[in-house]
Amino acid sequence: MTQKQPLFLGHEIYRGSSYGDWHPLRVPRVSTVMDLSRALGWLPATQYRVSPRAKPAALRVWHHPDYLEALQRAEVQGVVTRAERERFNIGTPSNPVYPEVYRRPATSAGGSLLAGELLAEGGVVYHPAGGTHHGMPGRANGFCYLNDPVLAILSLRRQGVRRVAYVDIDAHHADGVEHAFAEDEDVLMISIHEVGRWPRTGPLGVTGRGTTVNLPVPRGLNDTEMALIRDALIVPLVEGFAPEAVVLQCGADAVEEDPLSRLALSNNAHWAIVAALKYIAPRYLVLGGGGYNPWSVGRLWTGVWATLNGFELPDRLPGEAEHVLRALTWADHRRGRIPPKNWFTTLRDTPREGEMRKDVAGDIASLIRSAKMTA
Ligand SMILES: [Zn+2]
Repeated sequence: MTQKQPLFLGHEIYRGSSYGDWHPLRVPRVSTVMDLSRALGWLPATQYRVSPRAKPAALRVWHHPDYLEALQRAEVQGVVTRAERERFNIGTPSNPVYPEVYRRPATSAGGSLLAGELLAEGGVVYHPAGGTHHGMPGRANGFCYLNDPVLAILSLRRQGVRRVAYVDIDAHHADGVEHAFAEDEDVLMISIHEVGRWPRTGPLGVTGRGTTVNLPVPRGLNDTEMALIRDALIVPLVEGFAPEAVVLQCGADAVEEDPLSRLALSNNAHWAIVAALKYIAPRYLVLGGGGYNPWSVGRLWTGVWATLNGFELPDRLPGEAEHVLRALTWADHRRGRIPPKNWFTTLRDTPREGEMRKDVAGDIASLIRSAKMTA
């Protein structure tokens, strides 16, 4: 196991960048994680790297050249034609043309490409601006213009890393990543996502070459149920696959306070998965993903960085960190009008343990059986 310190990939482009006043991605996310981590003394310059902006040529390993050109043109012109909107799915309510519509995704993609290089000899990299798992080769999809998790895996491949386990605990199905690797037996993909939620792909089962594992979970998924998913499904499957690298998409939209899902996890559930996957392979890349409550996402992803480093979470945040959280506003959302005090003063949520529902346990058992049969 490597002794290198974990590296954090960030960029100032995420600060103040918004998809527009009515879009869920109007809230700050990565900048909060950087500010909170610095306020806590957790982000020394030696562990921080500025994410480079990927050049179009580097993105063409997976994305179509005409789509990349359209995205760059949209940024310059601030609009798209109707034909471009229909063909590339940009300039829509979900995937609007905003001022950094090419530069911001290209920076997040550049971070994921760099992560593959940084991990060539092993180590741990945290890239909270990554995790745009819905992006498709020739079109935007679900707030994602590019697919940086796919680019990260392809970058690892270029370093000679063959077997990669990709685990996705975002509330939404990893449709873009599945599209890329469904027929690739050297990529194990496990996606846990809310049943019936957009994009409504990823039905229960083990498909492709036996390495595509989808577990839709019901509304109200709690920490107790997620612990069983972690210990009975995710960890054994990833260990059994013997990957050379693990990539975790750690979307923050499966927590109770998120406005876009109906799952009910606390951030403890995410951190426990981050910790459980840390020592399985010599290379570990943790990406962000969804997360639309600015306090939840900032606190959860800062706790991910603490988990990767083994930092102890303070019970009560020091003043400078509390100040970062008090400066956030989300008053245009009903949940943000009167934020509870612990969103300012703590990183850790109260655990949300609950009933272990039979359906959830049954689905886990059926997946384990299918995975054994196809192994
Ligand atoms: Zn999501």
